[in-house]
Amino acid sequence: MHHDFEGELVLKDNGMDVKDAHVLFIYGKDKDSYWSGQHLCDQVLYHMLTMFQALHPASIDDRKVMGIWIFDNVTSHTVFAPSALIEQLLNVNNSGVNVPKMQATTWHNSEKVEHAQSLQWPDRVQKGMHTILLEHGLPVESKVRWYILCNGSVKKDLDQYSHTDCCLLHILELQPDFVGQKSEFEELLKAQGQCIMFLPNH
Ligand SMILES: [Zn+2]
Repeated sequence: MHHDFEGELVLKDNGMDVKDAHVLFIYGKDKDSYWSGQHLCDQVLYHMLTMFQALHPASIDDRKVMGIWIFDNVTSHTVFAPSALIEQLLNVNNSGVNVPKMQATTWHNSEKVEHAQSLQWPDRVQKGMHTILLEHGLPVESKVRWYILCNGSVKKDLDQYSHTDCCLLHILELQPDFVGQKSEFEELLKAQGQCIMFLPNH
């Protein structure tokens, strides 16, 4: 079963603060600034999803109803959660000033065996690129470069994820869990049982 909505998504007499999906926003440096990915994230999660779940309680309880959320593919739609796996934010070595605490992850090795990995040590120190890749079973013991002077020779191709012929940053960029990192609202919508799609770039 599916429903098509025509016109605007509106809630009536629901006793809730949120009644439509609009967000009033005044552009400009001296006003509400500029529309950002964080604004979109808030609009989707706190307006649209709230309304959708009020209209379709079955999407919460037994998940028999699923929304399909379609977005165009612009960079403002890729706001990552503070704990997202973003390789550029890591140091080569463990810890570091301003390095975020990244969430635990799972990934598959070349034999398709799933591994769970914490990206922090038990004392909550963030692991660096070197440790993370060693724990992926990759022979990077002698690699110490972040990416300076690298030749960037590894292609961004998931089939190449066990390649180690480059710097730590480019090797980490190929790891499936880092490649597959979703934007914050994509992660949160999926956690609510929703389906989300992005239109191709044009
Ligand atoms: Zn490189």
